[in-house]
Amino acid sequence: MSDDDSERTRAEEVEQVDTDETGGFSSFDSSELADEEPSQGLFDDLLSGEPIFENKEVLRPSYTPHELPHRSDQINKMATILVAALRGETPSNILIYGKTGTGKTASAKFVSKELESTSQKYSVPCDVEYINCEVTDTQYRVLAQLANKFIEKNEARIDDRIDELESLLEAVDEYEAADADAAVRPETEGDLFDEDDPFESALPNEDESVSTGTETSSQSGDSPLETEGSSNGVDDPSNGAIDGSTSAGQNNPNRLPADGDEHRSDADSDREPSDIDLSGAGSSDGRSDDVPPNHPLDSTPFDSRAGIEDEIESLEEDKASFEEVPMTGWPTDRVYSVFFDAVDYDERVVVIMLDEIDKLVEKSGDDTLYNLSRMNSELENSRVSIIGISNDLKFTDFLDPRVKSSLGEEEIVFPPYDANQLRDILEHRSEVAFKGGALSEDVIPLCAAFAAQEHGDARRALDLLRTAGELAERSQAETIVEEHVREAQDKIELDRVVEVVRTLPTQSKLVLFAIILLEKNGVHSINTGEVFNIYKRLCEEIDADVLTQRRVTDLISELDMLGIVNAVVVSKGRYGRTKEISLSVPLEETEAVLLSDSRLSDIDDVQPFVQARFEN
Ligand code: ADP
Ligand code: MG
Repeated sequence: MSDDDSERTRAEEVEQVDTDETGGFSSFDSSELADEEPSQGLFDDLLSGEPIFENKEVLRPSYTPHELPHRSDQINKMATILVAALRGETPSNILIYGKTGTGKTASAKFVSKELESTSQKYSVPCDVEYINCEVTDTQYRVLAQLANKFIEKNEARIDDRIDELESLLEAVDEYEAADADAAVRPETEGDLFDEDDPFESALPNEDESVSTGTETSSQSGDSPLETEGSSNGVDDPSNGAIDGSTSAGQNNPNRLPADGDEHRSDADSDREPSDIDLSGAGSSDGRSDDVPPNHPLDSTPFDSRAGIEDEIESLEEDKASFEEVPMTGWPTDRVYSVFFDAVDYDERVVVIMLDEIDKLVEKSGDDTLYNLSRMNSELENSRVSIIGISNDLKFTDFLDPRVKSSLGEEEIVFPPYDANQLRDILEHRSEVAFKGGALSEDVIPLCAAFAAQEHGDARRALDLLRTAGELAERSQAETIVEEHVREAQDKIELDRVVEVVRTLPTQSKLVLFAIILLEKNGVHSINTGEVFNIYKRLCEEIDADVLTQRRVTDLISELDMLGIVNAVVVSKGRYGRTKEISLSVPLEETEAVLLSDSRLSDIDDVQPFVQARFEN
């Protein structure tokens, strides 16, 4: 998993802290704090209250559940496609769609974790990289992040290989020392293989120098080859979703050690470094006391110490040549080429998971996807497969047709959860999250019902449950009841409004402010002309550009779509039609958010603007 991921998690946590205090409408007055007093018991009461939560963390979005009820179809489909990676083949690209909170990220992460651990288990080279495109939202950043990730992985692999080669060198040294030792002892000649076999002691210690060999042989029991053709085990997603159908044909580490020396062919010596088969040392497995120990270099591509040393040197040169991509400043071509080389350094299948891919396309177009999807035709050693995850069902309309068809080779839809499914999800989590008896019976069904109305959003359901718990805790209640859920619903809704209003462009804020001023002054059935007049005055006051009335009408429609105002078209008979506008969010809180914008807070006395309404 990438850093991106943890960035995202942190961002979400910060968001939560904010929402906990309703975006600044905190009632605690800090002037009450007396500096010199060590404590006035601010927390004592809260601490002594019966805690509602056993483990609140499991209700947070950053928590990745081990079980994902009602997603086994989607998870199994992903596994069925991705198992190709474990066979050394290139999986089809996958496009995952679904509204927010339908479990896309959680499922994709679950599958990628399984894929990576299975690939390790069978020593199949396969890497999964996750990128959240909401955070990493330009082609440069996506490529730079991937390049640096793969450089890191390559370095780690090189280090491992060097370690293996160094222990091979040690084994050779030991072997040769023992050999020399044996040569000076004449009695070995006649009874080379008897009980006192001097080679016995010359055998490299199995634990260190033969380590690769023993690892390999211990795996042979669950060799992918042996499970080939067995029915797939994707029925239970939490348990070996991918294992069952594995069959790694390529790169099989369980190559049998060859007899004698002929295997050290020239063909072997120019294999890719990733292909180095050190399992020759494992040939001691089948050894009985009357077979001479094999030379440690048997079944390796090396025929001398010098060969190994050269290899180590060249690996070290490779490592030194990797150049990390800075977070800005390079031409994109160069970033791409470093990324390309880093991916192609090794033989492997790479799965790149681009979450919130619609955000990337919206912000920076489809170049990144175009470049990634054409890579396979140029890669020599590795293969890339892309999993795109989108909240927006229509985002492919904006893609180049080639990108669209390549990316959408396989499509998986995550439908909204219904109230019953949300109930299951909440019940699973609440077992861990709450103290026994903390939940009254109707709490989970109500959370599920509210969230089902919100397009079946599991995130909303979990937020509701957590917030209801927090509200209960704050009011020192012993159980969470229906009323807490309703309060939580209002609070979350208000938090959403605060967030939407806070991030509006200045012009929309001015339009909204005009509407608020009219409402505050008791104006009913506000029309566009009235809003426009006040808006104009506000603009002049803060030196903002004044948009046309037509544009202001558009901005009002946008506010309507965001659910902040309600604009209904009413017919005025022969005077045509007009819009009647009213605020659909709490007035005071919304005004407070608007005034927290430094430009708007400069308007100190607003009354004259409202008066002006009657003059126009
Ligand atoms: P998306 O990526 O589709 O927006 P997420 O995967 O982030 O949705 O899910 C939102 C929240 O709901 C997360 O906290 C996730 O753990 C939880 N969640 C979603 N689906 C399930 C499920 N089937 N079982 C348990 N938790 C789920
Ligand atoms: Mg997501």
